[in-house]
Amino acid sequence: MGREPHSAGAASQSSASSELQRQEPRSAEARKKSGHGKTMKRPAAKKAARRPMGTVAEREARRRAVLAIVPRELREQFRDGCATCRGRAYCTVSCWAKRGFIA
Ligand SMILES: [Zn+2]
Repeated sequence: MGREPHSAGAASQSSASSELQRQEPRSAEARKKSGHGKTMKRPAAKKAARRPMGTVAEREARRRAVLAIVPRELREQFRDGCATCRGRAYCTVSCWAKRGFIA
């Protein structure tokens, strides 16, 4: 006769998912292009001292000059570069210089 509806189930819903999304004010990551304009102004970071060679344009010009004196067949051989330049298309000036082509 005494049948108790022993229904113990939905009673423990702990909603603890509120502090999962904290907002960390990272400045290093959050300085994308648009949006915040509150980043420290940097004094025009110089383009790291790479090689004391010259501008990219100059090097490109020299490279062309070198390639101009390299026989086409040979040039085509190094279409995919070599081990030294690690696969630069048609190698670099220094590669050709090593081979004796100096413009
Ligand atoms: Zn090379």
